[in-house]
Amino acid sequence: MTTNYNDWFRILENAEPRSAKLADRTFEKLAKERMTPTPENYALWYTYFAGYQPDLNRAIDQMEKNGQPFTPLRCEDLVKRFFRFDAEAHAVRSAGDKTQEAIAKVLKTIKTSLSDTGRYQGAVENLQNTLEQPISMDRLRTVVASVVVEMRTMVTEQEQLRQQLDLASGELASLRTNLDTVRRQAETDALTGIANRRAFDQTLKQAVGAAVRGRTPLSVLLLDIDHFKKFNDSFGHSLGDQVLKVVARLLAQSVEDRGTPARYGGEEFAIVLPRFGLGEAKKLAESIRVGIASKQIASREGGQNYGSITLSAGVAEYTASESIGSLIDRADEALYKAKSGGRNRVQAAE
Ligand code: GH3
Ligand code: MG
Ligand code: MG
Repeated sequence: MTTNYNDWFRILENAEPRSAKLADRTFEKLAKERMTPTPENYALWYTYFAGYQPDLNRAIDQMEKNGQPFTPLRCEDLVKRFFRFDAEAHAVRSAGDKTQEAIAKVLKTIKTSLSDTGRYQGAVENLQNTLEQPISMDRLRTVVASVVVEMRTMVTEQEQLRQQLDLASGELASLRTNLDTVRRQAETDALTGIANRRAFDQTLKQAVGAAVRGRTPLSVLLLDIDHFKKFNDSFGHSLGDQVLKVVARLLAQSVEDRGTPARYGGEEFAIVLPRFGLGEAKKLAESIRVGIASKQIASREGGQNYGSITLSAGVAEYTASESIGSLIDRADEALYKAKSGGRNRVQAAE
């Protein structure tokens, strides 16, 4: 004969005042045998003392007679044999455990994903505290619903954040592009497309630094178109502009990546030549001079010929402990000498 869980409660409810006595005896026994006061163990010993189940009493009496201690395993076995509610209770508890496990997992996920947001930490911690205690299905439903609400809010806010980040990074990218464009424009001569005076000054400063550190030579060329005023006067300013563009392109082609050609101002050009000694720089200047002088300037259709132009060049090699101003001055003096010496020539600085 077994006792149903509900029957057991009915028995307790109907019990007369002697139930209090029975309860006392039950607790005494539990303490004496050092048994955990679980509902099952309580039911086991209460039933024993009440004598509701003669079979149970016989089994226990036999065990005591044999001197068998009431280990948790033996108690469990007795409960299994004499109480049907055990299976149900066990099923409910293990289902509860599984639910708690699942919730713990969800919580861990939420906590991980929120750990850096800070804002939800309090809410999640509260939730966890709640869940660490035994919980009813109704309460569980409420708690899970609140987790879902929190998560939805979080997902929405993270999505908004992501969109804002996308937007911001897009703006940043275009800002960077604009900045690059502006920087390039600021360093480029609008007419000829080569470096302007500003970029030349910067490049020369850096090149002098590198030459000093690396104990390598460095030279500078200053080139000025001869009688350019006359050319403009004869053929027009616009054709003069075309000539400046062609000269700039020829300079770039001659120098390649060995140095930096720049429009120094008006019809004057300059070239920074790192690792160039005076001799090499002079040679390069000479080849540029010859190259330009040999070109015939003609209209695109070839109908009209404007003759050729020449230029004069001053060359200076950087000397140790010299200032940049002094280097430029010496190149300029050399250029002046080239001019006064008859133009269409290269002059090295002293
Ligand atoms: P020199 O041989 O002594 O250098 O004679 P030059 O005529 O070249 O020198 P000058 O300094 O007397 O005149 C420079 C001329 O260069 C004046 C100007 O018409 C011309 N020039 C300067 N900048 C530009 C420009 O951007 N475009 C055009 N087309 N001409 C320019
Ligand atoms: Mg000139
Ligand atoms: Mg000039």
